[in-house]
Amino acid sequence: MSSNKSTGKVYLIGAGPGDPGLVTVRARQLIEIADVIVYDYLANPKLLDWARKDAERIYVGKSAGRHSIPQDEIEEILVNRANKGLQVVRLKGGDPFVFGRGGEEIDELQLDKIPFEIVPGVTAALATAAYAGIPLSHRDYSSSITFLTGHENPEKHTLSIDFKAHAKTKSTLCLYMGVGQLPRIVGELTEGGMSGDTPVGIVEWATLNRQRSVYGTLDTIVADLKASGIGAPAMIIIGEVVAHRAKTEWFEGRELFGKRFVVTRAREQAGQLTQMLEDKGAEVIELPFIEVQPQFDAKRLGEILAGIAVYEWVIFTSANGVKLFFELFYKAFDDIRCLGPMRIAAVGAATAREIEAHKLKVDFVPTQANADALADELIENEGMESVQVLVITGNQNREELVLRLETEGRAIVDTLPLYKTIKTDLLNNEAAARFRKEGADAILFTSSSTVNSFIDQSAAFKLEEGARQPVLGSIGPMTSKTLKDKKLPIGFEASVSSLEHFVDAAVKHFSKR
Ligand code: SAH
Repeated sequence: MSSNKSTGKVYLIGAGPGDPGLVTVRARQLIEIADVIVYDYLANPKLLDWARKDAERIYVGKSAGRHSIPQDEIEEILVNRANKGLQVVRLKGGDPFVFGRGGEEIDELQLDKIPFEIVPGVTAALATAAYAGIPLSHRDYSSSITFLTGHENPEKHTLSIDFKAHAKTKSTLCLYMGVGQLPRIVGELTEGGMSGDTPVGIVEWATLNRQRSVYGTLDTIVADLKASGIGAPAMIIIGEVVAHRAKTEWFEGRELFGKRFVVTRAREQAGQLTQMLEDKGAEVIELPFIEVQPQFDAKRLGEILAGIAVYEWVIFTSANGVKLFFELFYKAFDDIRCLGPMRIAAVGAATAREIEAHKLKVDFVPTQANADALADELIENEGMESVQVLVITGNQNREELVLRLETEGRAIVDTLPLYKTIKTDLLNNEAAARFRKEGADAILFTSSSTVNSFIDQSAAFKLEEGARQPVLGSIGPMTSKTLKDKKLPIGFEASVSSLEHFVDAAVKHFSKR
């Protein structure tokens, strides 16, 4: 975005409770255009996938071995960036004005005369109620709802809320930041006259696939919480309505809920499988064995773009190639018609989808998604003799395609390599570190090459003590054969090699247990 000194602005945005589907349309729009995104612990980092590649991302939450950045430093970051004319998105978990210190940030912005906008978010109490099926108000049991905090000021660690006064109101109490102080709060509520039978529900990481919950009564909940192992961040809901929650657990009751899968694919392709698993409630750790890095010759790119309209066919061999090509194309031209009247071929459906996202029709996709089929069918069906062709590709393995188009098809072919594929260093990858620490229920292999990479990088898969021991899942007979050849035990396999069958096989495997 072009920015100048007079247009800097801070957007204080509620990031919702975690599930990315729960942010507002406005929040998403602003994340997409932001120059800078300042986010904390409770804002789901997945929201940052919507941000521009070149947006500055500043994490100000706590992380292992480090305290969160002090509030005045956060305010300084906001002011400082806005003063440079940048569009600054400040993402805060839940709603910025519910126990989110939004008021303090606004004070500072006003003091410095920085323009701002505030976007509300779904606060944890409402999200927890919905995802646990607890109606916060009910005509028969509760006609008021109270939001309380267990820590009034995270730096103070003292309570000045008069919990006794809340004990007899019959209001549904929603307690934020309360797990650490629960014994004391329960004591005060009891002293204030709240019945020991009053139902209590505690939900950790509500709306995420790692949501966990525990239910009890005012008398039992401290012990129940301890036994459950649940901790912060958690929402505590106290009141008669908790006993009247939905019998059907629409969220925690899903087929793969509570299961954790490792998906081992290049990032670009993992999306669909991840989505299918998450829809059934699973948590997914994506481990890309390989990564794509832009790599191209700027001079060559310039020449090809300058003459782009002369090509009669443009062939894309991967979705990555499409993405990079259009990024570079839009940098050079601001009118899609500069592309010219060429016909377009894609090696497979995923590549075609990426092209169609630019509202461009794909003229040709081979019946099988590989370069050989593409060469065969193009030469046979389209007659490539003396045709000017551009192949947009990575810098590996495409010589064969070019060679065949030139020799068998007698086409005039230029290639434009845009990226290289490199092995991910999983020992230094955050997601892999999480796998080693927590383990998973299954590692899903979607091809023989993922099996080979797994063996190749076995050091990165060494589980720490106490981590969940995964079974190995195979997408189909070919992959299973590779697993068997390598003497790896197969936990489950799909009979037919497709993502749908794979997910079904996982569901079947885990429902048996
Ligand atoms: N502004 C936030 C609250 C920040 S205070 C909001 O509106 O939700 C942090 C507390 O919020 C946590 O200690 C926890 O009590 C609650 N919380 C936030 N996200 C939560 C989640 N996904 N599940 C359960 N509780 C959550």
